[in-house]
Amino acid sequence: MADTPIFPVTRAAALERLAQFVPHAGVDYARRRNFDQGPGHHDAVSRLSAALRRRVLSEADVVDAVAAAHGPDAAASFISEVFWRTYWKGWLEQRPAIWTRYLAGRDAARQMLRRDPDLAERHGDAVAGHTGIDAFDHWMGELAQTGYLHNWARMQVASIWIFTLGLPWELGAAHFLDQLRDGDPASNTLSWRWVAGLHTAGKAYLADADRITAMTGGRFAPKGLAGATTIPADAPPPAAAPWRTPQTLDIGAPALVWITPEDAGLEQDPALSRLPVRGVVACRSHAGCAADATALDDALERAAAQWQAPAQWIESPADLADAARAAGTSQIVTGFVPVGPLADALPAIRALVESEGLALAEHLRAWDNTVWPHCRRGFFALKQEIPALLPLLLKEPA
Ligand SMILES: Cc1cc2nc3c(=O)[nH]c(=O)nc-3n(C[C@H](O)[C@H](O)[C@H](O)COP(=O)(O)OP(=O)(O)OC[C@H]3O[C@@H](n4cnc5c(N)ncnc54)[C@H](O)[C@@H]3O)c2cc1C
Repeated sequence: MADTPIFPVTRAAALERLAQFVPHAGVDYARRRNFDQGPGHHDAVSRLSAALRRRVLSEADVVDAVAAAHGPDAAASFISEVFWRTYWKGWLEQRPAIWTRYLAGRDAARQMLRRDPDLAERHGDAVAGHTGIDAFDHWMGELAQTGYLHNWARMQVASIWIFTLGLPWELGAAHFLDQLRDGDPASNTLSWRWVAGLHTAGKAYLADADRITAMTGGRFAPKGLAGATTIPADAPPPAAAPWRTPQTLDIGAPALVWITPEDAGLEQDPALSRLPVRGVVACRSHAGCAADATALDDALERAAAQWQAPAQWIESPADLADAARAAGTSQIVTGFVPVGPLADALPAIRALVESEGLALAEHLRAWDNTVWPHCRRGFFALKQEIPALLPLLLKEPA
């Protein structure tokens, strides 16, 4: 067990980590989770986010194990953090314009970097961890070296980025999304907006030097932090609207399963166990970072074993139709593609597939379908519903 990767992305390694972490997921987690002990010492938290982000482990896998060990009450703090992930996903799915707005803001900020040398220099110093603010510089280095930051450190970094360094939040969010091993369009974009004061109207998060010293065991004494927040200008978010209706799959029709980093655990979903799978593919174009490559490789192997079907890499979604024909199917099935870069590319992929007379169906997990309707307002509206939702979601009710 000693060699479990620090931030696992294969199912076997993630299950091993889960087994190691479960004994600490009850009151221990509630007590210790906010303290940042530094690289190599993040053992108060699960470090399962890279696996959860790709659904190598599902939310149900994790909540099931923790609730069974501690009971839902003692594990409430950990379970609630897992629901934060679902909350952000569901919230963004019902307001996809916020993602488009983020992309536009990021691109405008990148243009500003080209025009404004002072801004470009401050941005370069922030990214390189050369600001002179000890904690911030350390965390930027930790992010670059490990692809991970403790949740509390992410909050401090984002706050210092926005309010002390005066940099556009969208550039910080883009840097995180690029560097984090668990980089997720919903959790990342909306957490940055939450820190900036754009999620809960008028409420921003201000990093405090004494608190940083206390929460990091005295490792840092940052100087010169902003004493107040200036919330960036932004239009109010649109009202929640129903999420995109995916094309439903035909559970009796032969299928080619297309695995993406958005759901690399489809073979675990009981709803798909009867699907007559004729082949499984993943795209090399989606394996740009090492974590995605490893997770997809592992997912191909597991899916091939589960469905007793041949699995292979294809270059890109442009090869999906050929792969489906070679497998003798006219139905391609993938996990629901949530808001983000792949969903942005999906209409063109779908058009290509359909022009070849094939269907591209997306499978929405029962977890999402059950929880997302409660993700239209603030998190606390969802949190209140967790006890009532758990019996509907747990595989083995605690
Ligand atoms: C500015 C900022 C950016 C972030 N960007 C991302 C991101 O790109 N991807 C990502 O997965 N999380 C992101 N988070 C949320 C959170 O920091 C990470 O999920 C968490 O630190 C992962 O570490 P862990 O697995 O050890 O968490 P644990 O404390 O062990 O939590 C268990 C799981 O619950 C979920 N979770 C916990 N806290 C949160 C949270 N606040 N929001 C959403 N989900 C949560 C994660 O899936 C996590 O693996 C961000 C937070 C902030 C403040």
